[in-house]
Amino acid sequence: MKLDVDVLRYLSKEDFRVLTAVEMGMRNHEIVPSDLIDRIASLKHGGTYKVLKNLLKHKLLHHDSSKYDGFRLTYLGYDFLAIKTMVNRGVFTAVGRQIGVGKESDIFEVAREDGTVMAMKLHRLGRTSFRAVKSKRDYLRHRSSYNWLYLSRLAALKEFAFMKALEEHGFPVPNAVDCNRHCVVMSLIQGYPLVQVKQLQNPETVFETILGLIVRLAEHGLIHCDFNEFNIMIDDDEKVTMIDFPQMVSVSHRNAQMYFDRDIECIFKFFGKRFNLSFEECSDDIDDSEVDTDESGRPSFSSITKTTGFLDKELAASGFTRKDQDDIQKEEPTSSCNEEGQVDQNHHTPEAGQGGDSESQNSSNEEEDNQNADENDAELMKSLAKQRRRAMAAARKGRKNIASRNSYKDKGGKSSNNSKIQKQLSSW
Ligand code: ADP
Ligand code: MG
Repeated sequence: MKLDVDVLRYLSKEDFRVLTAVEMGMRNHEIVPSDLIDRIASLKHGGTYKVLKNLLKHKLLHHDSSKYDGFRLTYLGYDFLAIKTMVNRGVFTAVGRQIGVGKESDIFEVAREDGTVMAMKLHRLGRTSFRAVKSKRDYLRHRSSYNWLYLSRLAALKEFAFMKALEEHGFPVPNAVDCNRHCVVMSLIQGYPLVQVKQLQNPETVFETILGLIVRLAEHGLIHCDFNEFNIMIDDDEKVTMIDFPQMVSVSHRNAQMYFDRDIECIFKFFGKRFNLSFEECSDDIDDSEVDTDESGRPSFSSITKTTGFLDKELAASGFTRKDQDDIQKEEPTSSCNEEGQVDQNHHTPEAGQGGDSESQNSSNEEEDNQNADENDAELMKSLAKQRRRAMAAARKGRKNIASRNSYKDKGGKSSNNSKIQKQLSSW
């Protein structure tokens, strides 16, 4: 996703007023009727229409006249609303280069006025699979209208809330700075995703630390559900930081054991393959936990003393409600680690939910929506493919500059404080 923040400079108060009006209209309209936008924005002298044209030109809105004349926000429009809010709050003043691209998120460097560089994650939930997301009845049950704004916002809020709560309990996670809409700002981790690391001084220690984290998470009532070499960052001192939390579930999830075992398996497979680790030597000393292991050294889920609800207070403090938790509890997270322990970079695609019975109801609407979803899917897949190509090209270019022991392999780039900040937004 090209984030041409230059456009931001030229957007007026009225532009943002209309953009916000479209966002408000999208709470219950997939396409917001033009006259509704006009009413919400209530600009003088019918100014809304001129503004709409300008926003359309900059691709912040999408025009749709198939059923009636209306508009919806594009990702870019939504990005700008979140970025503007962050800038107004004084969270950062500039947006720099893209450092990570996932199927359902884009990560950029952002900087404070004093030059401190942080990471901004823009969630893109629903980008690739409106249909699959839509079939997740439980997730959306109480919504009059589903949309990717809601899903991305919920994913961001969840990630922010978990990051904050985990940090408060001493887990090695980025510092959660702020959250608005689908955007999470966090500290920039100085390190590499583990997938890029070819050699470690102390692979056993790192392995034990990582297993210890999985066990300690379970003791705190949580399972990461996507714990693999893409979501573990490691620095030059071999300090481990875990990232990427939108798919976490509680240990009381009905499939908790399976998710726990899957996370463990991913780590065993990766360390076995990449670092030729023989597990008998290491895993009897997993962090400080007292946990039983099976004969192959894998920690046993049932032997862990788990405290559910341990993080509730912190989660609630971040605005992540019980209901949000319940919604997410019902989710079936997918992992990027498949049977063979290979990592599938196209992860995070939500699986179909459990709402099989209700699936046949509302079928006419459904078909229509699905048709739209298919079109959206095609459009989104195309733009995603383009984005991936760009990211790969950028990564190939970037490789030369990365003076590291590792070859570049991941979708994300090496985090760098020296990154040239491209666009100053402080002029707003
Ligand atoms: P996704 O949901 O797309 O997998 P992640 O949170 O895993 O998103 O981030 C994707 C990539 O972006 C990571 O593999 C990492 O390279 C980079 N990244 C994410 N967060 C940070 C951070 N706080 N500091 C540095 N790099 C980060
Ligand atoms: Mg990830």
